[in-house]
Amino acid sequence: MIDTRKIQTNESVAIDTTVEIVMPKGFGARDTAVAVAGRLKKVGEGFALEAQGSCCLQMACSRCLRPVDIDLPFHISESFAEEEAATGEEIGFSDFTIDILPAVQRNLFLNIPMKPLCAVDCAGLCKQCGMNFNDGDCDCKGEIVNEQFQQLLQMFDD
Ligand SMILES: [Zn+2]
Ligand SMILES: [Zn+2]
Repeated sequence: MIDTRKIQTNESVAIDTTVEIVMPKGFGARDTAVAVAGRLKKVGEGFALEAQGSCCLQMACSRCLRPVDIDLPFHISESFAEEEAATGEEIGFSDFTIDILPAVQRNLFLNIPMKPLCAVDCAGLCKQCGMNFNDGDCDCKGEIVNEQFQQLLQMFDD
């Protein structure tokens, strides 16, 4: 929590802290304490936060579904305004107190990768038997259905 009365117009204070984030359903984080470092500046009646956050997400590889740790550095750029004056883009605050958590959450979620991979060359799963090709070849390989079905499968790749 930051006391806004301590910041004069056009001046800023250093932010160097950790916030406890809440991950959305289906996403995990190795550590929900996210480090945040940057500056909060008073601009007119509002405040602008420019900072860097970093956290480690735990997601499932989009090809083979294995759990994968993803180090995610992300930029935080948000504006704050008094609750009654806040527009849609701004985060409201009241009682001279700014909580940077909503700003961190919002910018973190914007940066979550859509298709995480356990490795850039992840071989994925066999679409027939579910064998993980990263572990080796499966028995059904080579006797896969007809060519048309193959092309159909490829259309759904990536
Ligand atoms: Zn994978
Ligand atoms: Zn197979």
